[in-house]
Order: sequence, then structure tokens, then C-alpha cells
Amino acid sequence: MTQYILEIAYLIASITFIIGLKMMSNPKKARQGNLIAAAGMTIAIIGTIFLYSKEGLTSRDNIKMILIFGGIAAGTIIGWLTAKKVQMTKMPELVSMFNGMGGACAALIGLMEFHHSVGQTSTMITVLAGMIIGSVSFSGSIIAYLKLNGAMAKPIRLPKYNIINTIVMFALFAFAAYVVVSGTDSSTMLYLLFAAALFYGILFVIPIGGADMPVVISLLNSFTGLAAAFGGFLYDNKVMLTGGILVGSAGTLLTIVMCKAMNRSLFSVIFGSFGGTTAAADGAEVAGSIKDISTTDVAVLMNYSKRVVIVPGYGLAVAQAQHIIHELELLLEERGVEVKYAIHPVAGRMPGHMNVLLAESNVDYGKMVEMDEINSEFEQTDVVLVVGANDVVNPAAKTDPSSPIYGMPILDVEKAKHIIVNKRSMSAGYAGIENLLFYDPKTSMFFGDAKKALTALVAELKTM
Ligand code: NDP
Repeated sequence: MTQYILEIAYLIASITFIIGLKMMSNPKKARQGNLIAAAGMTIAIIGTIFLYSKEGLTSRDNIKMILIFGGIAAGTIIGWLTAKKVQMTKMPELVSMFNGMGGACAALIGLMEFHHSVGQTSTMITVLAGMIIGSVSFSGSIIAYLKLNGAMAKPIRLPKYNIINTIVMFALFAFAAYVVVSGTDSSTMLYLLFAAALFYGILFVIPIGGADMPVVISLLNSFTGLAAAFGGFLYDNKVMLTGGILVGSAGTLLTIVMCKAMNRSLFSVIFGSFGGTTAAADGAEVAGSIKDISTTDVAVLMNYSKRVVIVPGYGLAVAQAQHIIHELELLLEERGVEVKYAIHPVAGRMPGHMNVLLAESNVDYGKMVEMDEINSEFEQTDVVLVVGANDVVNPAAKTDPSSPIYGMPILDVEKAKHIIVNKRSMSAGYAGIENLLFYDPKTSMFFGDAKKALTALVAELKTM
């Protein structure tokens, strides 16, 4: 009987995952979708703890229960406090860390189940696949975390790193195949394989630089889902399998979308010829000079425009200027100016970052226009206001083959009649490269923290 109740609990949990994921595709319903999926996960966890044991609780099980609930309590408190305290701009790091924890769990399952699976080839393949993919995802996500928080800002590239990475990857597969075929139950072999997988995860992510991190982050996400799905196979646990497949396939789709956004092939991501250009990392030839503009001049220019396009970037999130930018938009529209937002798929530090940020201040979804669509409109735009964006408007992506962002599609803001760039200084963006857009004769630099500068701009516009 309990078995049937458990199956029903798993079915309910699986359905909540699917509904939750579907709802996450809409920013308005995303929060609710997250809660529904979390409720399903709670049902699955409680069901597994209380209904899985068929023979009833023994005194040994009581000790296990204390350990399980102790672990759940510690994890809940740490997770809750971290998620509560994290700033919006640190979310990508948190997501990387959580993704790494998922990978670590899958790796631990592999370590625990290895000795129980010796002599059963198909089970051993499942165990080792989950352990290897989980370990790669864990160590890779920790490196991604360090890169996102700036502790490892510069890519680390060994000579011929593409070839080394590919050799290490195939050596890892060969080692795993040997462990399966030899039928060994040696713990030394197991831990060597575990260490090799962790090492490959590090090697895989350290050379990634420029602006290519979004692809790696979504790929690591799909790895964690895949590793969890192997755990589901192993235990014949439907909810773990469904959850893993959903995360794995969503991560894979996101990887494909990010590859398209960065104009990279998936093959080059996996086989390492990725983020390969190192030249021009610190700067292209700078020709021309910088022209700065006062708040009053920006206000006049925008007030007398017909069409304005706002390009939000990471700096908008740092400054938390999403509310004031919405106020600016409404003010301009009251005066008959048409305002749109140009959304680059990798602007900010996580996929969909700008949509989430602008949705927070109730910007109409219809005004957030994707890159492919808005690019044809820049020629008819009077003023482009770039707020805290840099790499996503860097023309080097189109003109400089030695640039680490070469080939990445960008917002063609240079086609507009006037370009106003708001940022605090001449510092580079995430890719660490010079941006010749700032030296374009049509560009004026509107220096200052985005929130302060836009607040002053709104105040100035109100006087006109
Ligand atoms: P960038 O990181 O290229 O540039 C952000 C700019 O914002 C900086 O040049 C900075 O200049 C400015 N800035 C910072 N703080 C403020 C502030 N308070 N007020 C005003 N300006 C500020 O951002 P983009 O959005 O253009 O590009 C995103 C980059 O991040 C891409 O390279 C992308 O590949 C990468 N990335 C994206 C991920 C994703 O999933 N979206 C994940 C990981 C990386 P200054 O210091 O002078 O103010």
C-alpha cells in the first residue's frame, strides 16, 4: 500500500515540476511556478523518507532519520539565509553554486553505489556516468562561480589547452571504460577516477574568457540535470529521473540558445576551440576622442526625439536603476516619444537577466524587444541610451577578428542618430576589452552611477 502512495506522491511531484517549469517561461508567473515545483519536491522528499522503507523503522533507521533531518535542517538554513541575503547582481554566482551542489550530490551517489554495483555492467555504467558528469559539473561550477565574482577574472590558458583538454576528456572516458570492463572493486581506482573527473571540470572552465561564460554556465546546468537523471535510472526513482531530464533538457535548450546568441558551435564548446582568441584582450587601437555630455543636454536631446531605444546592461542591475529607468520611459512617452528597450540575450550576468530586472519595475513586456528584431530599427532611432552595457554594444565583435568577442552578434546601436552611453568611467566590461563605440563621433558619454545619473535626468526633464 505504502508503495502505491509513494508512486502517487512521485507522480504529483513530477507534474508540479512540469507545471512549474512551464510557468517559469513567463516572468509574471515565474515566482509562483518556482513555489509549485518546490512544493512538489517537498512531497517527493517526505514521501521518500517516510514511505520508502517497506519493513518499518528499526533502531538503526532512527539514527539514519536523525542524520537525514539534521542534513535537511542544515541545508535549509544555509540555503534560506544565502538566498535571502544575496543581492540581485550576485544571483548568477548563487545559481552557479547551487548547480555545483547538484553535481556534487550526483557525484556522491556514484561514490556510494560503486561497491554495490561491481560485476553488474549496466548498473556500473550508470553509476560511473552519474559520478563523472556530476563531478565535472561540480568543479566546473565552482570555477564558474569564481569567474563570475571576479576572483578568477582572467582566463587561464595552458599552451595548446584545446588539445590538452580533448586528450584529458578521452583519457577520462577510457579510464572509466577500463574500470567497468575490468570489474575492479578497488577504492583507489574509484577515487582516482573521481579526482580525474574533478580535474577535467577545472580544465574545461578555466580557459573560458571573453564573453563566453553564458554558454558554459548553461552547459554545466544541463550536466547536473543529466547526472541527476542517471541517479534516477540507478534507483528506478521516477521523480528523480523526471527532475533530472527536465533540468538536463532545459539546460541543453538554453545552451543551444546561448550558442546562437554568442555565434558559437556546440562542438567548439565541448572540444575546446572555444573562447580561443587571446589577442586584443586588453584593447584595440583607439582612434578618436571621448566627448562627454551634461544632464541638461541629454534631457534636451531626448525630449525632442521621436524614437528612443534604451539598451540596459549589467551596470543597470549593479546600480539598481530599473525603477528610475521605467520612470524615464513613462515621462518620455507622456511627451509623445516612442520608447523601447533593446534586449541582448547575454546582457547582464545570467540568461534573461534584463527581462527579470525590467519586469521588477513593471516595464511592459511588449516594450522589451529582442536583438534580432530591434537591430533593424536602430537606423530610424533618434537617440540610443546605453545604460551600464558594454560588451553587448561593442563593434569589435563585428570588425576585429582578433577580439575575444569576435563573431558574437551585438546590438547595432552605432546606426542610430545619437548614442548616449551611461557608465561610471572608461572601465571595460566583462570581456575586459576596449570599446570603440565610446570614441564614435556620434557617441556622447554621460558619466555617473546609473541610478544617480538617471534620477538627475528625470528631474531635469520634469523642468522642461
Ligand atoms: P558588461 O559587463 O560588458 O559591462 C557593464 C558595464 O556597466 C561596465 O562597463 C561598467 O562600466 C558599467 N557599470 C557598472 N556599474 C555601473 C553603475 N553603477 N552605473 C553605471 N554603469 C555601471 O555588461 P553587458 O551587459 O554589456 O554584457 C554582459 C557581459 O557579461 C557579456 O560579456 C556576457 O557574455 C557576460 N556574461 C553574461 C552572462 C549571462 O548569462 N547573461 C553570464 C556570464 C557572463 P563602469 O565600471 O565604467 O561603470
